[in-house]
Amino acid sequence: MKNNEKILADFCDVLNLTTDYLTTGNKSKHSEFEILSDSMEQIEKEIDLCTKCRLCETRTNTVPGRGPQNPRLMIIGEGPGAEEDKTGLPFVGRAGKYMDKWMDAIGLKREKDLFIGNIVKCRPPGNRDPLPEEMTACLPYLERQIKLLKPDLILSVGRISSQVLTGRSEGIGRLRGRTYDYKGTALIPTYHPSGVLRNPNEYRKPVWEDLKRVKAYLDEH
Ligand code: SF4
Repeated sequence: MKNNEKILADFCDVLNLTTDYLTTGNKSKHSEFEILSDSMEQIEKEIDLCTKCRLCETRTNTVPGRGPQNPRLMIIGEGPGAEEDKTGLPFVGRAGKYMDKWMDAIGLKREKDLFIGNIVKCRPPGNRDPLPEEMTACLPYLERQIKLLKPDLILSVGRISSQVLTGRSEGIGRLRGRTYDYKGTALIPTYHPSGVLRNPNEYRKPVWEDLKRVKAYLDEH
């Protein structure tokens, strides 16, 4: 095919995909179109306008998550707290600062190596646990983020994000200590930093074991 004809053919393909998407809303039929259209900016825009669950009624800011493209590690908690709701940034309170120390200890830096986010992108009032229907409504955003960011490894912090991402119901004490697969990406669960701050004597040692597991995995891959 001559050059101009090929350009025209490619253009028509994209146009057909676009028309089909706009008229039927059917993205699943056209994975090429999804790849062409999805981006972190697009996901953030959708989250900013999102009213898919009742957490939109009480949030100050959405907290979509933050970090570089292709991070070495993606850290996933359950939901934003008060500081995060105020700033729109993930893990910026006391627990976040403590988690930065964990990462320092294994040679990882927030700006360069980590994408940090949550299962739900809006703060549950009074820091209650996110409800199952809120997590179900919000999880597709995280799934799209993982697909786009392609982290080397996921670290789920706390019981809720670890249960959601492993699909298991045990408590975090039983879930941790192993490496799982989350849709093709390795996943290691550990305690939430706020839980460790509350009870350092009990949780510091197992968290250090988990962090060594994270480092060993990243060193090997
Ligand atoms: S928590 Fe998620 S699903 Fe619920 S309103 Fe916020 S962005 Fe939308």
